[in-house]
Amino acid sequence: MTGALARLVFLAIGSTLRRMQVVTSVAAMQRLAKKWRRAGTKIGLVPTMGYLHAGHLSLVQRARKLVGKKGKVAVSIYVNPTQFGPKEDLSRYPRDLKRDLKLLREEGADVVFVPSNEEMYSGTGVSPVRSKSKNRTGETPVPLSYSTYVVEENLSRLMEGASRPGHFRGVATVVAKLFNIAQPDVAVFGAKDFQQAAVIKRMTRDLNFPITIDIAPTCREPDGLAMSSRNKYLEGDLRRQGSVLWRGIQRAQALVKKSPVSAKKLRAELKKLIESEPAPKLDYVEFFDPETLLPVNKVRRGTHMALAVFVGKARLIDNARL
Ligand code: AMP
Repeated sequence: MTGALARLVFLAIGSTLRRMQVVTSVAAMQRLAKKWRRAGTKIGLVPTMGYLHAGHLSLVQRARKLVGKKGKVAVSIYVNPTQFGPKEDLSRYPRDLKRDLKLLREEGADVVFVPSNEEMYSGTGVSPVRSKSKNRTGETPVPLSYSTYVVEENLSRLMEGASRPGHFRGVATVVAKLFNIAQPDVAVFGAKDFQQAAVIKRMTRDLNFPITIDIAPTCREPDGLAMSSRNKYLEGDLRRQGSVLWRGIQRAQALVKKSPVSAKKLRAELKKLIESEPAPKLDYVEFFDPETLLPVNKVRRGTHMALAVFVGKARLIDNARL
């Protein structure tokens, strides 16, 4: 084989089997992003908490389309502790990094950023400040050198924000950090987390991040259950019962198709439907304007609906335009 031909074959293989980098330090990720940006290469970021499913992979495919073959697709895998409440599932959140990396390699991601908590929230530890509620060493355990958070004060208030106090503060903070670390031109999020997408769009606009936010449609299982890493918690018959969120959405869509319905009536009807299964317990169901997220009294076509339901150990969320 001539040198030129060998180079061609190498390039051809290289373009189909891109080498995927795994980066664990903030500094290394920033160096890589800076290098790409200096070369004029577009960067697409897909933030995730891992335990990937087809919904996540659809975001990666979208990022690739948006940055093109010559662009770089970065995926972050980080279970962000600051967005979990003290009684939530942080410690048992499903993880399988080896499998995630395999899937992302097959999907053609260029870099996977997998930081540790120390790397993201450096210096979280014990403060030397003395107080009345001392521990055995006489120190109060508070974050030592991590003390900056991003708070969106309007769209975060209802629904997930009301049920999970502090959740969106954690989300906005980690996403702002990931934006500064991976320096993307475009970042892709899922419509599955509708309120999160709205908060991130607002934060990006308000804080002038020079980043385009792209929202991808929700990927569902054949019975309508929205794909989610937390579906792993649905053991036995709970998996079937999990599709009740989608059945509720479909019922609402069918009802408002005919004529506007009062939110109060619709909420009561959906609660009955959802709780007619043995396990599901409704946390909330809201009907709101998709731009302002403000609740409406009359639900009509074009109104948005979001709901959260406990099914066994899982808390599932879903949403759709009615
Ligand atoms: P997570 O790992 O759950 O934090 O999700 C990472 C990203 O994937 C978020 O932008 C989610 O909205 C998105 N996502 C999660 N589930 C789905 C799904 N079923 N379809 C499309 N996107 C999703």
